[in-house]
Amino acid sequence: MAKYVFFFGGGKADGKADMKQILGGKGANLAEMTNLGIPVPPGFTLSTEVCDYYDKQGKKYPEELDGQIDEALAKLEKLMGQKFGDPKNPLLVSVRSGAAVSMPGMMDTVLNLGLNDVSVVALAEKSGNERFAWDAYRRLVNMFGDVVLGIDHEHFEHEMDALKKKRKAKLDTDLNAADLKELVAAYKKVIKTRAKIDFPQDPRQQLNFATNAVFGSWSNPRAIRYRQINRIRGLLGTAVNVQTMVFGNMGENSGTGVCFTRDPSTGENYFYGEYLMNAQGEDVVAGIRTPEPLSDLKKEMPEIYKELDGYRLALEKHYKDMQDMEFTIQEGKLFILQTRTGKRTAAAAVKMAVDMVAEKLIDKKKAVARIDPYQMEQLLHDRFDTKAKREKIAAGLPASPGAATGKVVFNADDAEAAVEKDAKEKVILVRIETSPEDIGGMHAAQGILTARGGMTSHAAVVGRGMGKCCVVGVGALEIDYKKKQFKVNGKTVKQGDWISLDGTLGEVYLGQVPTVPFALSGNLDTILGWADEYRRLKVRTNADTPGDAKQALKFSAQGIGLCRTEHMFFGPEEDRIYWIRRMIMADDEAERKNALKKLLPFQRKDFTGIFKAMAGLPVTIRLLDPPLHEFLPQDAAAQKEMAKQMQVPPAKVKAKVESLHELNPMLGLRGCRLGITYPEVTDMQVTAIIEAACNVAKKGVEVLPEIMVPLIGTVNEMRFLNDRIREVADSVIEKKGVKLSYMVGTMIEIPRAALTADEIAEIAEFFSFGTNDLTQMGFGYSRDDVGSFLPGYLSKAILPEDPFQRLDQVGIGQLVQMGIEKGRSVRPKLKVGICGEHGGDPESVEFCHRVGMDYVSCSPFRVPVARLSAAQAALKDAK
Ligand code: PEP
Ligand code: MG
Repeated sequence: MAKYVFFFGGGKADGKADMKQILGGKGANLAEMTNLGIPVPPGFTLSTEVCDYYDKQGKKYPEELDGQIDEALAKLEKLMGQKFGDPKNPLLVSVRSGAAVSMPGMMDTVLNLGLNDVSVVALAEKSGNERFAWDAYRRLVNMFGDVVLGIDHEHFEHEMDALKKKRKAKLDTDLNAADLKELVAAYKKVIKTRAKIDFPQDPRQQLNFATNAVFGSWSNPRAIRYRQINRIRGLLGTAVNVQTMVFGNMGENSGTGVCFTRDPSTGENYFYGEYLMNAQGEDVVAGIRTPEPLSDLKKEMPEIYKELDGYRLALEKHYKDMQDMEFTIQEGKLFILQTRTGKRTAAAAVKMAVDMVAEKLIDKKKAVARIDPYQMEQLLHDRFDTKAKREKIAAGLPASPGAATGKVVFNADDAEAAVEKDAKEKVILVRIETSPEDIGGMHAAQGILTARGGMTSHAAVVGRGMGKCCVVGVGALEIDYKKKQFKVNGKTVKQGDWISLDGTLGEVYLGQVPTVPFALSGNLDTILGWADEYRRLKVRTNADTPGDAKQALKFSAQGIGLCRTEHMFFGPEEDRIYWIRRMIMADDEAERKNALKKLLPFQRKDFTGIFKAMAGLPVTIRLLDPPLHEFLPQDAAAQKEMAKQMQVPPAKVKAKVESLHELNPMLGLRGCRLGITYPEVTDMQVTAIIEAACNVAKKGVEVLPEIMVPLIGTVNEMRFLNDRIREVADSVIEKKGVKLSYMVGTMIEIPRAALTADEIAEIAEFFSFGTNDLTQMGFGYSRDDVGSFLPGYLSKAILPEDPFQRLDQVGIGQLVQMGIEKGRSVRPKLKVGICGEHGGDPESVEFCHRVGMDYVSCSPFRVPVARLSAAQAALKDAK
């Protein structure tokens, strides 16, 4: 019989830590902690297989499940000496979700389950605290209505506010037992009116309802969106954890808190956390009350602190990673409610990994494998310019470090809409507090600012996870959602106004504060140095200028994988664009050659700079690629201006632009077709490349030029250009009298080139996969026009992700793999790389490793990400 229910308690558990796929992270860790002898309230876990079944079988459960739950409940009752629904000594449980990967706030929790009109009286008697019992009950009815039945929280809030007003109470805690009793009745009415059912009195029925809700929440849009953003795939579902309740709100010697074994923001090795006395965990997470720092617990309850600190050390040693723990103190007794690998900022992740190697807790390989390359990218982001003036308007808690500047928006939809309309738009999401519904907007925003909440509030936890600059708990903010403005310290800020956030200091500034580029930290350098020891793939960069090349070298790029020569024609010297336009406007070959002669020195100068910067490293230079119309002005006024400069009639410019007009320019006269149609362009570029190489080589610098032909589709194109390139190059070398070797190769970016790669490799000495075009032509999606349908494709899950960002391994990947295999079948040592945008995407880099490429090439700032990803791919492979 299949096992769906896993018990933990009494010092023994059915599960253990490595059963995350089946028990979810929370369930597996509760089992593991139980086995370790840590005081965990006992309970049981319904496995993720149940969720999978529920999802696939149209909300039905496996037949055996009910019996297994009954059995586990009986065991729990026996262990606790309590009974579900007992009028004297009732068993109360919490019901929580927990998938294999932690998804903060995405799934739902119900507490105090098992209370009803009868057992609430028993709880009051047992605890000797009537107020506490009724408070627990009203929380259950509220959560049940809100989480399980999907009734908007505000209806319950409304009842609470009305009662407080009636009683002239300021805080919830000002309400007494009788008030709370009244509130329970009011809440039940809300349920009856809104959900058309009575609040169930049978605890087993309550449990069934709650279980359905948790399993159902796995496929709610919020959860799906979260998994999409975080690339969480291949999970069966969530587990459900049913656990005996312990109460942090049983009086002054009770409390609850959240703690991290190290500081999740900086990575410092000290006990970091927050707690609240006489409160339930929800109060901390929801940010309703502002918690105290854990250091105060040391003074307030030194024994408890000592015990907690002991578990901190034991758990970190056991899991060999920073843990995020939740604890509750019930009448002076400590319980650990959960432990999990703590979310952390990128900077903290790197520091902790390096520290833990020094502490001999983990080895270097584990340290490298542990850093999330997507998250590491955050470290490569800008900070505020310290010299810039900042007009500070408020301060709160520094929830997630970094610098952000943007226009104020007050809801998640507005944030998403603004960025969808213009990808360059920068917004700051300002909320009283955030909730899981805001995930999409938080993702779209540059930064997040909230009026309420502590360092473990939703905004803080999610912000850190996303690596978004985040400031929370700015109590002075008076946010008015209706008027779309906030007031703070005498200033009014309206929607659309610019503000800036410093997530490291927790400060808010008026206006746009300029940022400066980051500098690599020592710890990051250490990790990357270790990564270099394990990776097989080389990492090159895409760079068109000596400046870019130097930047990439700072990140240890091992050469240039793509130098787009056309970018040089837009370079700083005005004349360049003039002469390329002259070349395009030429009436005959002689005139064209004349213009090219003027362009040659510019190109030679740039190549010289790049070769010098990249001494001893390969430099792949691509011949002219874009359609020529890109160099000519499209609007009439600019054409007139150009005609004036060229001293030709405006009509001539207009006619030229019209003659170059193509219906599908991406499939028209571009790439190698240009060089074949106008071989003199190829001649000029090759001359410039080889002359520069010879000049630099003469100075004793090692030069390794690789001349790359774009957009090859047939071997004959390759043959034609290869002959031409070699003829020109060899004659320059001979004239210069230098010993210089060079390579001639091609990009593989047209599907036909991949299909006939064996023919092409007879001539080409190297391949570089241009996966931007290969994706464009493989999918048949214009890379410049996807905005009209791609967002819809992603939201409707037609595509799992943007194929221009992450290589489509299933489809386009086959072309890449086939290209490599066919190419190497005729030229076993064929050098193969990638230079499309995918070369800096971690998952795509792993693919490149798997299919046996020699290198990846990406933009300078992504070089560190690619180095780490390449090492992780190699380590995974070795496993
Ligand atoms: C490519 O197509 O992948 C490529 C690198 O070339 P470009 O983006 O310049 O077309
Ligand atoms: Mg291309």
